[in-house]
Amino acid sequence: MVKRRTPLAVEEAVKKVMDCKLEGKKEYVSIFESLDRFLAEDIKADHDIPRFDRSAYDGYALRSKDLADCTEENPLVLEVIDEIGAGYVCKKNIGKNEAVRIMTGAMLPSDCDAVVMLEDVVESSDGKPYITVTKQIHKGENISFKGEDVKEGVVLVKKGTKINAGTVALLATFGYEQVPVAKKPRIGVFATGSELLEVNEALEEGKIRNSNAYMIMAQIKQAGAEAVYFGKLADVLEESYEAMKESLADVDILLTTGGVSVGDFDLLPDIYEKLGAKVLFNKIAMRPGSVTTIASLDGKLLFGLSGNPSACFVGFELFARPIVRTMLFSENPHLPTASAILTADFPTANAFTRFIRSRTVLEEGVFYTGPSGTDKSSIVSSLIHANALTVLPGGKNGYKAGERVQVILLEGNFN
Ligand code: AMP
Ligand code: MG
Repeated sequence: MVKRRTPLAVEEAVKKVMDCKLEGKKEYVSIFESLDRFLAEDIKADHDIPRFDRSAYDGYALRSKDLADCTEENPLVLEVIDEIGAGYVCKKNIGKNEAVRIMTGAMLPSDCDAVVMLEDVVESSDGKPYITVTKQIHKGENISFKGEDVKEGVVLVKKGTKINAGTVALLATFGYEQVPVAKKPRIGVFATGSELLEVNEALEEGKIRNSNAYMIMAQIKQAGAEAVYFGKLADVLEESYEAMKESLADVDILLTTGGVSVGDFDLLPDIYEKLGAKVLFNKIAMRPGSVTTIASLDGKLLFGLSGNPSACFVGFELFARPIVRTMLFSENPHLPTASAILTADFPTANAFTRFIRSRTVLEEGVFYTGPSGTDKSSIVSSLIHANALTVLPGGKNGYKAGERVQVILLEGNFN
């Protein structure tokens, strides 16, 4: 007899999964390998940037007080007593009506308090070099001040931030040759189903190629975790149980696709029981993916995603991705949401919340959203151009184009 399953609201299901706190771990990687990883510590400035007052332009460093009365009619001639490029330091004292030729980024000599740009002076020589200035130069002019960019002690990037090119620049600035990052959670993947062929196998009557495993591995990588592919399993209980039991030891999370429904060969419920895993839920009030089953065992999570490609995709994004991001120390592990205007009718009422694979576009600051293909859980082609999931809460008598709805934005762009 088929056991009745009680559907759980999506938010409650998400909460139940998130309550199983899987701890993230830290490791160090070379700065060269740090792009797209997630910081495992706050990055704090251990010195000011700039660390010293420096010239913002190529020009002449001078004492502004010498030029207090300087005008076009009353020009001032300064003797150039030294020249410094970026990285060099002037060792001389600069006295009245003296200047130092200085290049962008060079440290301002301590006797000087301003810089006049090269293009604002006339250079001359009588064996010794001189410049003629025809305007007042104010204290602080053309200088990048110590600490104006970053003040010592400030937390610049928070733990859990995904490292981008800008973060890499900061890491280099503060001497992080080795960067503390979250260890990528290891997620094992099995595709279950006796109908499955591997990507390199020729098609046979009644069989299909396993696409879910490859899709899920791509999603795992996009989420920031490491995918470990264990292959496909035929719908045979003992074999599947043994394979899953053995593989669990090697991963933080074990993810399977298929076999979680109530069909004759849907073996995952029995396997979870045999493993002694605690099933958190096995029915969610959502479409697609209502049979998504999640279980916990010895501090690990087992995700039983539906075999239907769209259901499998949605199940991962809603339940597995936030767990991965939490293990990567993210403060906002869930995908971002936005309000959008629906561009298609969804006339039929549905008791369950629907997650429509959608193409969402941003036009003049407004999101518009419509289905990216046929809306059936068995459909794979609707995923190609999907950049969002349109959320249509259940219990309403259909939806009409023009209504405002929520969209969950997948990684991608909106044009
Ligand atoms: P199941 O959840 O095992 O009942 O499978 C539901 C549907 O998804 C069936 O039509 C399966 O053939 C299909 N399916 C299951 N696993 C995969 C897979 N790895 N790749 C593509 N389709 C699959
Ligand atoms: Mg199956």
